[in-house]
Amino acid sequence: MELNKKEIELVKILHNNNGKFISGENISDTLGVSRTAVWKYIKNLRKKGYIIESVPRRGYHLVEVPDKITVTEVLAGLKTNLIGKEVRVFSSIDSTNNKARELAKGGASGGTIVIAEEQTGGKGRLGRKWYSPPYTGLWFSVIVRPHLPSNRAPFLTIITSLVVKKAINKLGIEVLIKWPNDILIRGKKVCGILSEIMATPDVINTAIIGIGINVNQDSFPSKIPLATSLKQVCGHNVNRIELLQDILMEFENYYNRLKDGCYRDLVTEWKNSMDILGKEVDIVAGNEIISGKVVSISRRGELVLIDPDGNKHLFWAGDVTLRQKD
Ligand code: ADP
Repeated sequence: MELNKKEIELVKILHNNNGKFISGENISDTLGVSRTAVWKYIKNLRKKGYIIESVPRRGYHLVEVPDKITVTEVLAGLKTNLIGKEVRVFSSIDSTNNKARELAKGGASGGTIVIAEEQTGGKGRLGRKWYSPPYTGLWFSVIVRPHLPSNRAPFLTIITSLVVKKAINKLGIEVLIKWPNDILIRGKKVCGILSEIMATPDVINTAIIGIGINVNQDSFPSKIPLATSLKQVCGHNVNRIELLQDILMEFENYYNRLKDGCYRDLVTEWKNSMDILGKEVDIVAGNEIISGKVVSISRRGELVLIDPDGNKHLFWAGDVTLRQKD
């Protein structure tokens, strides 16, 4: 759904008027076109899914925007300095992380966002598939150029999970972070995060942070029984654009805290958002399966586990399952 230049300007005018009526005359002056042309643009926007009310002598007001992700809608009212400076929207691509990497290699600036209505090859960790059907989720990647020390890489996932948690909490929904990269609602996955970095041994030059959130799905394929969507939890559709804007704004705050070196506070907040501390777990990491008790999350974001022999193990990543009580 492409908008032409004048239609984009008109959408901006309507947005800026905050739901109040604006006269056709006012719009035609601002756009520098005739009243008839304004009427034509309004008709076009309606065809493209905008609901615009018109009342004689009062003018027009924006009632609802289409549930489609467009650059115009993402940028309308987005109050960030860096994140979302450039926004690219695709209707269907293999993976937003792949596209973001390609754009980053081509010189895209830090803060660029890549969004797709559908991913045909959405991915999770270790080449796993991420199911990303059209028009129901938020599938996007953020390109950042953090220049952080390489051993701080886990913090990119840490801040992202805190940001998504905060944005979902604002909808009145409680979530838990599942170490290291998932967000759960009552044990089911609502969001996955996949950070990919381009780094030297010392410095992270570029990171691509992929975020997949199940928003308005009514159901999931039986092969992913442990998935849930925000709609399934709260019983109604959630506005994807508003959620995305909230996430981008929060992301900028947390990214600034990360750049300011607030590692300790961030880990503490992260730790408090999990329910794994003190639990007996099995963790699969590489070819190993280790069982034991989670005693802490380290300052650097590692999971700290003590096995039954009292040995301490540290993990950067892995698949954790809670042990059933015998
Ligand atoms: P984890 O870290 O939980 O092992 P990943 O982050 O690598 O998983 O995500 C991939 C896994 O998530 C898949 O193997 C599948 O089980 C599950 N999955 C795939 N798509 C979705 C989705 N849209 N919502 C929730 N879970 C999904």
